[in-house]
Amino acid sequence: MVKNEMEYMMGLKIRMYPNRRQEKIFWKNINASRFVYNKLLANSWTDSKVFKNKLDKRYPIPEDYWKYSKSGKLFKASTIRPTGLARITKEKYPWLGDKHIDSDMANNALVSYKSAWSLFHKVHNSGTPKFKRKSNPNQGYRTSNHYSSTTVKNNGGVPSLYNGSIKFLDKSHIRLPKVGRIKVKLSEVLPSNRLVRIATVSIKHLPTGEWFVSLLLKSDEPFKKKLPKTNSQVGYDLNTENFLTDSYGNIVDNPRFYRSFKGRLTKEQRKLSRRARRAKSEGRKLWESKNYQKQRKLVAELHARVGNQRKNFLHTISTTLIKNHDLVVGENLKSKNMLKNHALAMSISDVGWKSFIGMLEYKAPLYGRTFIEVDPAYTTQKCNKCGFKMGTNGSIKLTLKDRKWTCPNCTTEHIRDVNASKNILAKGLVELSKPLTEDSPIYK
Ligand SMILES: [Zn+2]
Repeated sequence: MVKNEMEYMMGLKIRMYPNRRQEKIFWKNINASRFVYNKLLANSWTDSKVFKNKLDKRYPIPEDYWKYSKSGKLFKASTIRPTGLARITKEKYPWLGDKHIDSDMANNALVSYKSAWSLFHKVHNSGTPKFKRKSNPNQGYRTSNHYSSTTVKNNGGVPSLYNGSIKFLDKSHIRLPKVGRIKVKLSEVLPSNRLVRIATVSIKHLPTGEWFVSLLLKSDEPFKKKLPKTNSQVGYDLNTENFLTDSYGNIVDNPRFYRSFKGRLTKEQRKLSRRARRAKSEGRKLWESKNYQKQRKLVAELHARVGNQRKNFLHTISTTLIKNHDLVVGENLKSKNMLKNHALAMSISDVGWKSFIGMLEYKAPLYGRTFIEVDPAYTTQKCNKCGFKMGTNGSIKLTLKDRKWTCPNCTTEHIRDVNASKNILAKGLVELSKPLTEDSPIYK
């Protein structure tokens, strides 16, 4: 197979309905995966001869990786073949060799461990990796898909959704390592283009008790057919009074679902902590307190329901924008001043601006559209007709209260957010007319 330079990716999250036996196997692997991850992490903090309880932040690796020569000189870890994982699995902990343990689970735990460290190195404030706790309501493990050349040859000739070690058997069944055929419910149609293959696979157990499998799909072709050009370009402004205003003057109101749920959620949460206190005062463990567990599940379900509604809302808005316009321009939230205001920042995370932008980022290339972000400076204060800036020439700067205003220079009447989104679009067009460099705000 000739490999194109560009690889398209897509995530697929599918509800699973395991039977008792399959659930048991999932839990075995979840527990083993957490164990391996924690063991790797513990080793990286181990008191070694060199670091004396201190972590080598440049290259934290399990103690097992370090080797000394006869003269006591330390070899660089990178020159030795890492054996830490092999030791964890085979020598010391034979129970990890259980026949129900997925052989790819440990390697994927190692991958998670490494990426937790690289996140720590790359992202300021992300903190050192934490031990995974058994009490965490979200649990899961990752595994990998494999394609054998003979199976592929006998089933279609190219790796697909239907001929790997992890594969779809029909519309409501998938095959997973160790558990075998398992019932699933697809929430969307599987991509039908050729050359779609399954890469990594995560099995997840949510606090609601639901099981999900998340598949990362890869393809050399776009997953969705590129849409015909619309010859329309749009800028949008995100604000707290409404969710979004675009440069055509359309206003999308803020979703109210969270607020309507809030009262109920507070009530149930209070009930939950009351039950926790009672169990404690009666000397019972939380996991054996039935009433507490029942309530915990209810609260988790409420949270999940709000989250789903929010996600559906964001999907609808982002898909509509991408489908109807060749170019979508937004403002870069990082530089948006209002994030410095704590109360505003809270409500921003509430309505999900960040996930919204993430959706635009991945949907644009799926449909052959362009999405870029621009610096929001002066987009509110500038008249999009004549370029006059409020706050200059004796005029007064607009505040959050001024929803409508009239340009003192050209007397155009403006709706603040519509004017802002027109400026955002204009800034985007300027950016696109510049020669492309590494810093160009185009997402590929
Ligand atoms: Zn003007």
